[in-house]
Order: sequence, then C-alpha cells, then structure tokens
Amino acid sequence: MKKITILGSTGSIGTNALKVIEGKSNQFEVLAISGYSNLNLLLEQIEKFDPKYICIGDESKANLLKSKYPDKEIYFGDEGLKAMGALDEADIVLTAISGAVGIEATVEAIKKEKRIALANKETMVAAGEYINKLLKKYPKAEIIPVDSEHSALFQSMQGSRKEEVQTLIITASGGTFRGKTLEELKDVTVEQALKHPNWSMGKKITIDSSTLVNKGLEVIEAHMLFGIDYENIEVLVHPQSIIHSMVEFKDSSIIAQIGVPDMKLPIQYSFTYPSRESNIVLERLNLKKLKELTFSQVDNEVFKGVQLAFEAGKTGKTMPCVFNSANEIAVELFLKGKIKFLEIYEIIEEAMKSHQIEEIESLEIIKKVDKETRKWVYENYGRN
Ligand code: NAD
Ligand code: MG
Repeated sequence: MKKITILGSTGSIGTNALKVIEGKSNQFEVLAISGYSNLNLLLEQIEKFDPKYICIGDESKANLLKSKYPDKEIYFGDEGLKAMGALDEADIVLTAISGAVGIEATVEAIKKEKRIALANKETMVAAGEYINKLLKKYPKAEIIPVDSEHSALFQSMQGSRKEEVQTLIITASGGTFRGKTLEELKDVTVEQALKHPNWSMGKKITIDSSTLVNKGLEVIEAHMLFGIDYENIEVLVHPQSIIHSMVEFKDSSIIAQIGVPDMKLPIQYSFTYPSRESNIVLERLNLKKLKELTFSQVDNEVFKGVQLAFEAGKTGKTMPCVFNSANEIAVELFLKGKIKFLEIYEIIEEAMKSHQIEEIESLEIIKKVDKETRKWVYENYGRN
C-alpha cells in the first residue's frame, strides 16, 4: 500500500486524485488531506477516506474538527500545510493547492525525500531555481509533474536524454477567448472568462487559461522541470486539447502524448510511474471519433501572457516570482470585479518593470519578493 498526502484535496485536482485512489484502493490509501474553507466537502472526504492527518485553513475550523475527530491529527494554516508536507509516513505528496502558498509544503516534502506529484505549478515558477538546488541536496526526492502538458512532456521523454531534445512543444487550447481581438476583450465579464471550452478546473487556473498566463506559467515550469533553454520551448495553439504536448528530438522525430482531456490520467501516472496501470476511472480515447487536430501560433499581440512569461523566465532570478505573484493578485482582483480583464496584463507588466531583481540565496528572498509584489499590486490596483 502506498500512502498519499493530498494538499488541496477539496479542489479540482484534489477531488480527481481521490477518484483515482478510489479506483485503485488495493494499491493506494489516503494518509492526509487538506482543505481551506470548504469544511463540508472536507468532512465528506474524511468520512469516506478516513485519513490520519487533516489540515484546514483556520484555527476555529480546526477546533471543530478536533472535537469531532479526537483521535486524528488536525493542523491548520500555513504552518499546518508545512507539517503535512513533512509527514514521515507518506510515500507520495500531491501538491494540488492553488498559488504560491504551496511552496513551503513542497520544500518540506523534498527535505523528506518524498515523491512529489506536482500539480501546483506556481511553486516551480516562483521558486524553481531554489527547488532545483534543493533537489540536488536531497537526491532521493523526485518531482513527477501532474500538469497535463508537463506530464505529456515527461512521458514523451521517457527513454531519451535531455541532450537529444530539440524543442519542447507545449500545446494550448487557446482558452475561452481564442480568436478574440483586444477590442472584444475590453469589457469581458468574470462569468465569460470562467467558461473553459475543454477543461473543468479551479477558478484561478481557469482565468489563467483565458489570459494564456497559464501557458506562460507552464513555459517557466517546463524550463525549471526539464532544464531546457527558453529558446527551445515553443507554445502551439491546439484547440482540441487531445495532444497534451510533444517533444521534438534532434533527429526530427516528434513524440506526442495523446488522450482525453482529463486530469485523472496525469495524476495516476504521477502515482504509478514508472509503471502504467489500468483504472476503471480512466476514460479511453476513441480515435475514430476524432475529427481534426489543428495547430496555430499564439496571437501574442492580444494574449500577452506567454511573451511576458518568456521575458520573466529569461531574466530569471526573482523575476518569475514577480510574474507569478502579480498575476495571482491580478486574478483575485479581476474575480472580485475590481479590475478589467486586460488590466491583468498591465499589472504583470508594470510589476515586472518596477521590480529590482535579486539573487535567490534562500527561500526567504522568494517569500519577501512574493509579499512585496502582492503589496505593490494591492496598493496600485486594489481600488474599490
Ligand atoms: P482549486 O481552486 O480547484 O483547488 C485549490 C485547492 O487549494 C483547494 O483544495 C483549496 O482548499 C486549497 N487552497 C486554496 N488556497 C489555499 C490556501 N491559502 N491555503 C491552503 N489551501 C488552499 O484549484 P485546482 O484547479 O485544483 O488547481 C490546483 C493546482 O493545480 C494549481 O496550482 C493549478 O495551477 C494546478 N493545475 C490544475 C489543473 C486542473 O485541471 N485543475 C491542471 C493543471 C494544473
Ligand atoms: Mg496545464
């Protein structure tokens, strides 16, 4: 039995992970789960999966859980998340929290040399340089990507060496506003931005998909995970979301990973790697029903999220952290109706312009830059 910790069990990735585990209950068991504010769903999950450790956002909810489950270990807040990442009994830690709050728990899991099934892309973007240094220090820790594109790249590279890679080709659905002009995007609503054509996901990543900032985050994530230069990373719009990404090799061969757009497969692969296994919850792709697979360039004039990420990534050091933190707050402000859709790009761009880059000597630097950037965005754009 492999014991799994799920950080962010109440989210879209978290609930899918629980379905994967249910389908393979002879092999996997839930050791620990964490939620933030959705206490009801967390309670349901506790009843169903009987985890030994539980973490929740605030102390009052934690006290409630403590009185209901006196024999379980209950944690709360950011410190609680860290403790969850560090549990000795875990075999796998799935990081399915949304946003940079996931960094410290991931760091703890690396220090304990766990397998980290990494969904939380913000960690690799904001702290990638630091995480990579840490992985050298703790060589038994391993990060298996869960993000569908990175899982696809990882799968496509099995049996190959990094030196043989020519280009990582990251596919993008193009988001809900694909084909729209700047004029048409000026007054789009939150509701419109939350409608993703192919994937059902949490709110933050759905907005990121509509701006293509998600694709930008994924470019940096790919660079950090696979050590491939930015010059050799490309984004292609592929509206059908069937090819989850591909790798072009030096000899011109392209290897792609194809499947239905469903996160359960990359989640399971991160648990079972290097083996591939059946699971009743996994849907099969019917190739005969596929009508077409198309590819086109990103419209960088309209969707600036990708180019800004390349810029932040190439600058390196603390700049990717600023890109990520500015976007997190911009998305929060957009969801609250405080800024317009296109201001998300403006905020990221301006935050990057006003940032003085620093060397990442410790995790403290990342935490400081993250905090300062959030403050800067609130001060300059958080009007009522
Ligand atoms: P979600 O919003 O559905 O879920 C987020 C989870 O994090 C919830 O369990 C929530 O309780 C928890 N959480 C949020 N804020 C928290 C905080 N401050 N402290 C502690 N816990 C907190 O998000 P999601 O769509 O499941 O995405 C999770 C992560 O996976 C993100 O980093 C996202 O980019 C990545 N990802 C998601 C998908 C997808 O299909 N949903 C695909 C690829 C990558
Ligand atoms: Mg993705």
